Amino acid sequence: MRKQFMVIGLGRFGTSLTRTLIANGHEVLAVDKNEQPVQEIANIATAALQADCTDEAVLRELGASNFSHAIVAIGDDLQASILTTLLLKEFKVPKVTAKARNEMHGSVLSKIGADQIIYPERDMGIRLGNQLSSDNLIDYIELSPDYNLAEIKAPAAMNGRSLKELNIRAKYGCTIMAIKKGDQINVSPKAEDAIYTGDVLLLIGSNDEIRHLENDYE
Ligand code: ADP
Repeated sequence: MRKQFMVIGLGRFGTSLTRTLIANGHEVLAVDKNEQPVQEIANIATAALQADCTDEAVLRELGASNFSHAIVAIGDDLQASILTTLLLKEFKVPKVTAKARNEMHGSVLSKIGADQIIYPERDMGIRLGNQLSSDNLIDYIELSPDYNLAEIKAPAAMNGRSLKELNIRAKYGCTIMAIKKGDQINVSPKAEDAIYTGDVLLLIGSNDEIRHLENDYE
């Protein structure tokens, strides 16, 4: 479904977010207080405007209250990030996602009503750290602070063995949700299905459970 977003702050983050939303078929009003980033995105965004979003009158003029989702991608200027988020919530934008530089910034944003706080640098650090720590981990999605959906290369020691034999859930607590073989994906595999080298496993479980399994099969 085509959605309308307002992206405020066109640094590296806001710009790449805007490009991705547009590439996915959505509409984006991209705003920055400086002229250059606005010019650079003008041909890509649905509309691009130079404006200071800490000004209530400006947000009213931009029709902020008509958007169902606004993203505050102002990073360095804490005051501008906080004030803009506050105003967007006053304009009753249902979903406001705000980028935080650190925990303190995030906690202020949450107190003034931001619906989603993101920490791009911290989260990329965690993601890369996890990927580098494991030979088999391809990617993962954090489902909650403790639970992940992890995509791992099937360890060589699993080659030719069935799910029943491996008994992963009983031994480790995590579950193999799907087995990918090239372009084919076997969702909710059966007990007698076997795993072969080159397969990719989709695992759901806690960080500890997944790490335990990986260590055992190293
Ligand atoms: P990144 O780390 O993603 O590059 P920056 O903090 O460098 O993020 O960029 C944030 C952008 O937000 C800058 O382009 C800046 O001009 C813009 N910005 C800062 N304050 C405001 C404001 N009050 N209204 C609109 N845009 C703003």
